Amino acid sequence: MRKPIIAGNWKMYKKFSEAKQFIEEVKGLAPDADKVDSIICAPSLFLQPLVQATEGSTLQIGAQTMHDAKEGAYTGEVSPVQLKDIGINYVILGHSERRQYFNESDVSVNKKVKAAYEHGITPIMCVGETLEQRESGATASIVENQVAAGVAGLAEEQINQLVIAYEPIWAIGTGKTATAEDANEVCGVIRKKIASLYSPEAADQVRIQYGGSVKPANIEELLGMEHIDGALVGGASLEADSFVKLLEAGL
Ligand code: 13P
Repeated sequence: MRKPIIAGNWKMYKKFSEAKQFIEEVKGLAPDADKVDSIICAPSLFLQPLVQATEGSTLQIGAQTMHDAKEGAYTGEVSPVQLKDIGINYVILGHSERRQYFNESDVSVNKKVKAAYEHGITPIMCVGETLEQRESGATASIVENQVAAGVAGLAEEQINQLVIAYEPIWAIGTGKTATAEDANEVCGVIRKKIASLYSPEAADQVRIQYGGSVKPANIEELLGMEHIDGALVGGASLEADSFVKLLEAGL
């Protein structure tokens, strides 16, 4: 049985005072860590104080991106060593906004995924097709290629820890959710790809999230699907009330 993983991606939203207040409201309400993994991926600037603010809570703080190098002359970047040092255990990698606006490629995502493992951080590796790709019937091959490239060189015991987020680009921030059936079908394609690259056992353990206009009104149906083990949520993770409802749906 795969444990549900519900993660909020705050992107570049919230002032620090708002972030603190959110954490104060949610930290006592996050479910038991044995039942659901509850994560907020906050802007880098807020990570350390929010890790402190969640001490003793089952709510965890994750990062939204990182560099693959341990350290170096990379102005403006954050390294896996720095993240781990302040207590970060999850990082979103290869989000479509990173791929679109910051030139991240399958190759750079793969380097980052490997670096995350090397430093004991669980990657939440994002994949997903554009509307054009979906309409041309290319969804499965696009997503399979992104998965294969993203995990290239990883050992089977590392794959067991992986979290993959399937986020169709056309469903992000648009209010258009993939139907639960469509989302499940692509998550199934991802699982099959892991089975063919590694083993059926590895595929059975990989957790796959759906992301794209997830909200309290649709999360239960999504989580009820065979291949969907959680959600990566943007807009609906910004309000404490709605995020708590999303976490509860994982129970
Ligand atoms: P929305 O939930 O706002 O559509 O964003 C999804 C997303 O990009 C999460 O990473």
